[in-house]
Amino acid sequence: MNTIITVKDLVKDYGSFKAVKGISFDVYEGEIFGLLGPNGAGKSTTLEIMETLRDKTSGEIIICGMSLDKEPDNIKKIIGVQLQTSGYYPGLTLIELIHLFCGLYNTGVDPMALLKIVNLTEKAKNKYKELSGGQKQRFSIATTLINKPKIIFLDEPTTGLDPQARRNLWDLIRNIRGQGTTVIITTHYMDEAEQLCDRIAILDEGKIISLDSPDKMIDDLVSSGFERAKQVKSANLEDVFIHLTGKEMRDD
Ligand code: ADP
Repeated sequence: MNTIITVKDLVKDYGSFKAVKGISFDVYEGEIFGLLGPNGAGKSTTLEIMETLRDKTSGEIIICGMSLDKEPDNIKKIIGVQLQTSGYYPGLTLIELIHLFCGLYNTGVDPMALLKIVNLTEKAKNKYKELSGGQKQRFSIATTLINKPKIIFLDEPTTGLDPQARRNLWDLIRNIRGQGTTVIITTHYMDEAEQLCDRIAILDEGKIISLDSPDKMIDDLVSSGFERAKQVKSANLEDVFIHLTGKEMRDD
């Protein structure tokens, strides 16, 4: 396995407040790597530092063999960063927005081919503000792909979406990884991490308290003697909801 990102002893202080307290981890090429944790754990801070959008206090980050301190501009060329959905001009169409981003990245891309990846070709001439929540998220993922990055960073991509839209987004993220792109994702949904991530780092109060595959973490917990209080049914309410409403039937 090739290491594509190395984070070593990363520290971030906001004034006297220590948000990230010396964390270290590697991300492997081609994996979906999750940063998990409760609100305030330091996930977004860590992500934004890796994205070159926020300064760190100390520590070292290497991305594709390049030091974040020495070559931030070269790193920017090979990563895809998801903007918050409020970062788009609501009155522009999806095609216009893609052209705008191409200008920013100084690159060219076929807007319809890009929209096809995220299943939005039918909305190409719609304004951004006319999209549903799930469509907006899919579009924002499309914009991370404009510069054909090796790595994309997604910050809570499914927050606020209904179950169908979330599952569609999971499929999309898996497809993007299937093309060889490494994906770093933050989430506070455990089911999302379990379904999607090859490995996860669980952060709490600025520290990594566990780092492994979801499967291994669960096996370790079970082998430590942990048992759920209640017998778990072989389906849950979300399964009922998806079964009744149908995953593919509705355009999110
Ligand atoms: P998470 O993404 O896990 O919810 P964040 O990285 O957003 O966590 O925040 C980690 C901690 O740092 C929180 O306590 C938050 O309030 C604090 N924090 C984040 N950004 C700033 C900032 N610009 N100034 C001061 N404190 C901040």
